[in-house]
Amino acid sequence: MRQALLEYDYDWNMQRVFDQGSRSLDGTRKEFERARSRFPTMGTVMDLFYQYEDVGRAMTKGAAKYISNIVTARQDGRKVALTTFCMSPALCYAMDVVPLLIEPITAVGNLSRKYGMGEFMDYCLEIGFAETACSAQRGAMGAYLGGAAQKPDFVLCNMSGICDTNTSAFAFAAEALDLPLFQCNFPPQMRGERADAYHRADYRAMIDFMAEQTGKPLDSAKLRGVLEEIQKQDELIVEMQDYQRMIPSPIPTTFNLFMYLLRFLFGGTEDGTKTLEEMLKVIRKNVKEGKPGNRFGEEKARALFVYTDHYGGGLPLWNFLDSRGITHLGCIADRFYQQAAPYVKDGEGYTVDAADLDSMIDTMAALNCRMPMVKQIRGPYDAPDMWLDEIRAQRELYNPDFAVYMGTPGCRNTWGMVKLLAKQLEKEGLPTLIINADVFDERVESWSMTQARFEEFLDVRRIGI
Ligand code: SF4
Repeated sequence: MRQALLEYDYDWNMQRVFDQGSRSLDGTRKEFERARSRFPTMGTVMDLFYQYEDVGRAMTKGAAKYISNIVTARQDGRKVALTTFCMSPALCYAMDVVPLLIEPITAVGNLSRKYGMGEFMDYCLEIGFAETACSAQRGAMGAYLGGAAQKPDFVLCNMSGICDTNTSAFAFAAEALDLPLFQCNFPPQMRGERADAYHRADYRAMIDFMAEQTGKPLDSAKLRGVLEEIQKQDELIVEMQDYQRMIPSPIPTTFNLFMYLLRFLFGGTEDGTKTLEEMLKVIRKNVKEGKPGNRFGEEKARALFVYTDHYGGGLPLWNFLDSRGITHLGCIADRFYQQAAPYVKDGEGYTVDAADLDSMIDTMAALNCRMPMVKQIRGPYDAPDMWLDEIRAQRELYNPDFAVYMGTPGCRNTWGMVKLLAKQLEKEGLPTLIINADVFDERVESWSMTQARFEEFLDVRRIGI
């Protein structure tokens, strides 16, 4: 790794960027412009945050605090768990552990660093990690493996049985950093007596593992507090996803990104609830005024992202959609399976039950085994509760004009079935675009090439023109 990358810790660096970014929203427009000029690589992102000032403030302040906790964990006497975005961080908050979620930390680096996360990704390869691994994990993990960030204390993995590249990334990190590892396993079925019993037993085993690492047992009062926040967040998210059904959709294009970041980073915290409340104020105002959420001012088309978004520098995907009046109807990373969510079928979701410690742990186990990706791509793509099934349910509710698949080349699970999915959706009358880019690594395909493919698809299929 270049010496320059070791000069300032990556997580410290991100903390400073978010802290300064959030402060810039506290000043006047003139002060903001001045601060903006000091962050040349963050300009478009800062504009998106400034546009919805209170939302931007809540989001960036929450993110700055989240990253600060990682940086100061050791001096505060707290343990850091290196973990994946598809593990709900709520249990960590209940156990006073700092969750270090690699994928969102890779995404924020991409949004704010001039050259993205390429060098950290490459460092993983230098020490033996597979090039074909998921770049979301290979990104920020490079900084932790290379000693350019706070060393975590243990590793929690939440994809075993579903995503081999995610699982092996965490096993690799545990080995390389010589850390204790716990892997939550998932049987191919999501529901049923045996699957439920497995999820619960495995989740309890993880709690025991964490208690052993921290020396502190699970505190039921803290868990109840976290679940109360989750309950509030669920209600707010369900309301938002209900509004998303309206034509035109009143949801600003970037709000899906915020939902992705906040539920993964602040699930079960007051910061998450506060950000969602601010988002809803903007949405309810649009509903009242009958306005579309996009900045174009008119809804020309509606896009359903059947996998991830694109986290390139400066958020080009969101700017592109806004510039064409295309509504973002969500991707799989911002779908959570509260039983009340509009796209959830009977018995498929979880409900919060905080009656006693047992029921609270069961709630967390049910939530955890329904996290994005864990839920959608665990079994055959057309099995009940799985990918095709879910996309069909969303299509019926949200009326998309087209569907888009984007991901990472490392994502063999979806690449293995995406053509089947696209073929089936096309057969059912939904134009579907497959993008070959790596959404975390623009060196694989530049955004301008991705955009050209997008435009070609929209022109050829006569969508939104
Ligand atoms: S399912 Fe794909 S995008 Fe998700 S963690 Fe695995 S490889 Fe990465």
